[in-house]
Amino acid sequence: MVFILNPSVKKEKINNFILSWERKGFSTILSVGTEHTAVCLIGNTSQVDLEHVVQTTDIVAYGKRITERYKAVNRNVREGNTIIKVGNAVIGGGCFTVISGPCSVESEEQILKIAKSVKNSGAAILRGGAFKPRTSPYDFQGMQAQGLELLRVVKNETGMPIVSEIMNQTQIGLFEDVDIVQIGARNMQNFDLLKAVGQLKKPVLLKRGLANTIEELLMSAEYIYAAGNSEIILCERGIRTFETMTRNTLDLSAVILLKQKSHLPVIADPSHAAGIRSLVSPLAKAIMSVGADGVMIETHNNPAEALSDGAQSLDLDQFNTLMKELKERAVIEKKEM
Ligand code: PEP
Ligand code: MN
Repeated sequence: MVFILNPSVKKEKINNFILSWERKGFSTILSVGTEHTAVCLIGNTSQVDLEHVVQTTDIVAYGKRITERYKAVNRNVREGNTIIKVGNAVIGGGCFTVISGPCSVESEEQILKIAKSVKNSGAAILRGGAFKPRTSPYDFQGMQAQGLELLRVVKNETGMPIVSEIMNQTQIGLFEDVDIVQIGARNMQNFDLLKAVGQLKKPVLLKRGLANTIEELLMSAEYIYAAGNSEIILCERGIRTFETMTRNTLDLSAVILLKQKSHLPVIADPSHAAGIRSLVSPLAKAIMSVGADGVMIETHNNPAEALSDGAQSLDLDQFNTLMKELKERAVIEKKEM
C-alpha cells in the first residue's frame, strides 16, 4: 500500500505518520520524488482500510494498493520518472544517455585515449571495468584497485563521470571516487551486496542476471531501495536462451515492461547482449526506439588487442558513427542526448 502525501507537508508530520505505522508493526519506505512524497507500507495491509486512512489523515492526498511484490520501485508510487544526475550527465526524464568505454581498464594510455574520443563523440559517462567477473580464472581479472585509480585520473582530466563494477562488499572503500557503482549480471541476486550498495549515497547501475526474470530484477532493485538508496538505473543486458549465434539474447520487451512497471530509469547494453560487434549499432538504435533512457556500449581503441570482450567492442570510429546516427534519431524521437 502506498500513500501519496499532499505537497509541502512538514517533515515532522511525515515522521509522525511513519511512526504511527511502524508502531503497528509495518515497515515503511519513504519515497521523495520531484513531484510528491510517498510513504510505502510494507507488511500485511489486508486489514488496513485505505479509504478511512485517506479521509482521516490530513497530510495524505490519496492511497493505492500495490499488489506487486516490488513496492518502492513500482511505477504506482510516483507520478513522474526518477531522474538521476551525475556530474553533468542526466539519466531518465526524457533524455537518452550514452555510457561508453572499454570492458576493462588496461592502462592509463588506453583509458585516456578512449575517454577523450568517446567524450568527443558525445558519450556522457565513461565506463571501465577494474574488477572483472570472468568465466575462467585464467582470464584477465582486471587491474583492480589500480584500474579504479586510473579511472579517477581520467575523470579528473576529462570531467566525465565514471561507472565501474563492484564485485563484493569488501571493495566498497575503493569506490569512493566512482560516480556510479555497477552491479554486474552475475551479482544481481547477491543480496548482501545489494543491501550494502543500498547504503551508499551514489547511484547504482543494476544489470539483469543472465537467467533472471524481469520481476526478479525489480525485486533486486527493491533490495537497494529498501536499504536506503533510491538512485537505481536498471539495465537489460541480454539473457540466456537456446540461441547460440549471439552471446545472449537482447530482451527488448524487458526494456518496455520495465519502463511500464517502474519509475526507475532503464538502459540497455547491446554489447554484452550480442557479443558480436556488427550487431551492436543496430541494437543500440532499436534500444532508443523502444523508449530506453540510454545505452551502455563497449568501445576500445584497438579491439583486436583488447584484454576482454574485444569481439563485441566498437572501435572509436565506429562509435563516433553510431553517435551521429543516434543523434539524428533523437531529433525524430524528441529526446535530448
Ligand atoms: C560488464 O559490463 O563489463 C559486464 C561484465 O557485464 P555483465 O555483468 O552484464 O556481464
Ligand atoms: Mn565486457
